Amino acid sequence: RLFVPHPLKAGAGVAPTIDQSRYLTAVMRLSVGDEILVFNGQDGEWRCSLAEAGKRGCVLKAEEQTRPQAYGPDLDLVIAMVKRGRVETIVEKAAELGARRVRLTQTRRTNVDFVKLGRLDAIAIEAAEQTGRLDVPAVDDPQKLDKILDSWDPARRLVFCDEGGDARPMIEALAETGPPAAILIGPEGGFAPEERERLRSLPFVIPVSLGPRILRADTAAIAAMTLWQAAAGD
Ligand code: SAM
Repeated sequence: RLFVPHPLKAGAGVAPTIDQSRYLTAVMRLSVGDEILVFNGQDGEWRCSLAEAGKRGCVLKAEEQTRPQAYGPDLDLVIAMVKRGRVETIVEKAAELGARRVRLTQTRRTNVDFVKLGRLDAIAIEAAEQTGRLDVPAVDDPQKLDKILDSWDPARRLVFCDEGGDARPMIEALAETGPPAAILIGPEGGFAPEERERLRSLPFVIPVSLGPRILRADTAAIAAMTLWQAAAGD
């Protein structure tokens, strides 16, 4: 399966990137006339045929739609910046577990400031191609947590993974409130007291525990999204 940001309609020509062309010919060993599934995040999934394969890349031809456009549940994963490698894992798992959007955030104790993010987009696309989803999660540039909270739509419940120790188990909270619109995971150093205080004062925030042990941010993100997916059912 390939993600190609091109309009997909019967007969349309589709030009994969050079890397994708190489993947089609050298890895998948496709030849002219062979088929590949393509999606663009808007027009559903299409069966395409390899029309040309040359040094300057391949050209596909859109044949027929195999699946109408569909989107997974509308979950934002708000994740404090942690080491690059772990952020890459988190983006990949968020795409696999159905998050619609990954929002990187800077908190009092985030101590990494690599900025993005082209690589993270490529990881999101690759994971979306592999999972069979028809959209690619957006990965937003890092924003300060206060700024995200200031502009938050209070109709969207935010599950705050709080390792502080006295929060309810996430599974119990979800049984009561239903799947949230967003999950917030803190940095390696955890949330500062004043951040925790602000978060717990907000009506749309649901503090939850992911168990008695302190998880790394990437483990916490995967655990929380898995519980959310179990509650959301899709
Ligand atoms: N403050 C932690 C400590 O004392 O080592 C470090 C924070 S932890 C590495 C990173 C984030 O994962 C936390 O801010 C929290 O959002 C989430 N997290 C980790 N373990 C958790 C747990 N048992 N329950 C809820 N959230 C957890």
